[in-house]
Amino acid sequence: MTVAILALQGAFAEHGAMLDRLGVEHFEIRQKKDLDRPFDRLIIPGGESTVMGKLLRDSDMMEPVRQRILAGMPVFGTCAGLILLADQVEEGISHLATMHIRVKRNAYGRQLGSFHTEAEFSGIGSVPMTFIRAPYITEVLEGAEELARAEGKIVAARQGKQLVTAFHPELTEDTRIHQYFLEM
Ligand code: GLN
Repeated sequence: MTVAILALQGAFAEHGAMLDRLGVEHFEIRQKKDLDRPFDRLIIPGGESTVMGKLLRDSDMMEPVRQRILAGMPVFGTCAGLILLADQVEEGISHLATMHIRVKRNAYGRQLGSFHTEAEFSGIGSVPMTFIRAPYITEVLEGAEELARAEGKIVAARQGKQLVTAFHPELTEDTRIHQYFLEM
């Protein structure tokens, strides 16, 4: 199995390190021609969703990536990656818009901009969660299912083969969420 990691901006290297620990082949997608290399799964990392969205459009990758996701290729979006996959962004624009969730950006306010907690993740158990200026999911819509809550907010969801977390599992030692993604 080969996993492609969108590497236009943000925390893509940490996902690569996590996949190394799991012994999974991976490569980075930096420009449109990288999409021609065969891959089975895609990770969209954390970073800044507006910047990543702009880079996806400017490099002509938005539509091809979107089409692959709609065709059923498994995708895992963390933090900004979650925002990119959401089809409804409160007070903002949507990007890939393949997943039926409504999200709120920078949703925890300045005081709670970054924090760490542990919470139940459906089917896995208690997992460590690191949040950095994170969004949360305000509503899980048709076809999507909630997987975890932290501080009362929905912070992980799945719709078919699309998985999103508002937190950053790649910044912890815990490989279980990446494993979950690889088994989807
Ligand atoms: N606040 C960022 C955004 O709106 C997401 C933060 C992150 O990915 N760590 O894109």
